[in-house]
Amino acid sequence: MNYVIIGNGPAGVIAAETLRKTDPSGNIVLIGDEPEPPYSRMAIPYLLVGDIQEQGTYLRKDKNHFEALGVEMIVARATKVDSANRQVTLDNGRQLAYDRLLVASGAYPVAPPIPGMDLPGVYPCWTMENARAIAKLAKPGARVLQMGAGFIGCIIMEALANSGVKLTVVEMGNRMVPRMMTEGAGGLIKKWVQSKGIQVFTSTRVEAIEKGAGEALRVKLSNGEVMEYDLVISATGVRSNVSFLEGSGVKTDEGVLVDDQMCSNVPEIFAAGDVAQACDFSTGKMMVNAIQPNAADQARLAALNMAGKVTRSQGSLAMNVLNTVGLIASSFGQWWGAEEGGEHAELMDDVNFRYLRLEFKDDVLIGATSLGLTQHVGVLRGLIQTRVHLGEWKDKLLHDPTRIMEAYLAQAQAATIAA
Ligand SMILES: Cc1cc2nc3c(=O)[nH]c(=O)nc-3n(C[C@H](O)[C@H](O)[C@H](O)COP(=O)(O)OP(=O)(O)OC[C@H]3O[C@@H](n4cnc5c(N)ncnc54)[C@H](O)[C@@H]3O)c2cc1C
Repeated sequence: MNYVIIGNGPAGVIAAETLRKTDPSGNIVLIGDEPEPPYSRMAIPYLLVGDIQEQGTYLRKDKNHFEALGVEMIVARATKVDSANRQVTLDNGRQLAYDRLLVASGAYPVAPPIPGMDLPGVYPCWTMENARAIAKLAKPGARVLQMGAGFIGCIIMEALANSGVKLTVVEMGNRMVPRMMTEGAGGLIKKWVQSKGIQVFTSTRVEAIEKGAGEALRVKLSNGEVMEYDLVISATGVRSNVSFLEGSGVKTDEGVLVDDQMCSNVPEIFAAGDVAQACDFSTGKMMVNAIQPNAADQARLAALNMAGKVTRSQGSLAMNVLNTVGLIASSFGQWWGAEEGGEHAELMDDVNFRYLRLEFKDDVLIGATSLGLTQHVGVLRGLIQTRVHLGEWKDKLLHDPTRIMEAYLAQAQAATIAA
């Protein structure tokens, strides 16, 4: 059996390892187009603050790990997939035959259509190469503008704040992390970030970036502000890497559309990680769930199915845990609430930066958002994932959402014991 994996990030690496365990004699080829050994983008913030060196970002620390597993590593870019002849073309001219193909090519940062995005000093924070460029400029006292305060933006913010730069954050949405946090939580995160000395503009756009004095960049905002910065970081969203699938017959939307075995509409082609669009646990809709634990789960599942061990996904659960300059925020499942007929409980303690919002459909917890309440995170996830009927506990939680642990002990534990 010839297995080819396009992409050597967490999804590609975990798939290669799972394939080797499941099919000891198959040929496995792992292709990546970055010159580094396989690494974790998640570790980039730690690299930026100097907590780790580049080697600390590597997914596997042993240099001979892949060779010992009998996994062939190729540094090249896949440019085409010919599904009729089961062949992948690489940018070095090589053709690779496959029996099963895994697309684990992740995503790339999208630059907003603003003049000046190509100037030196303007970078996304996505690759190791980006991290090196940012580290050179993000010195203590440097003036840094960050465009975008989504999930990745908030994670980078933590690293930048710890590097001692003078940071300004500009977000187009009306609050921080608008696609992962409720209005209440996003507003509280903004207040927290401002209390740490970071300037934040929400409902504001960067309109243009020009060359300023010396090496500086002059940035014009939609609120009329014009300021000079030493570094501009763009964290304004990503898009799946699927262009090489054009003409392959593989169906894509926001990513490669996959079924509950991570298989695309072409039976020998699978997808996992940031590039895959799979069924969402809460809504049943097709969603890209671009976080590393999801990439790992999907990769394991895809590899088992590729090797003939039929294994199905329950759907991918939205699960966002975020540390924004020391404030832990999390959102799970259908955190924005039911489409219709739902109920919610919201507790806001903006003096102590604590927040909890629970979303119910009938007597089932379907989503939750919390801030500064880390002890509840496992329980929230557990209740949502197991769809436990809360019975009388729903009304109690509507009155006091902080009793979530008691509800879990009473209902979920009881259900486990009964089973
Ligand atoms: C700064 C930062 C911080 C983050 N922090 C967190 C966090 O705290 N928690 C969390 O859960 N997630 C975090 N993420 C997101 C997480 O890194 C991704 O969800 C994860 O990397 C997805 O893994 P993947 O293997 O699907 O894709 P990737 O890690 O993107 O790997 C895909 C690989 O495929 C390569 N590739 C693409 N196209 C081709 C091609 N045509 N040919 C060959 N190779 C190709 C890419 O260059 C890349 O090396 C963070 C991301 C960033 C950028």
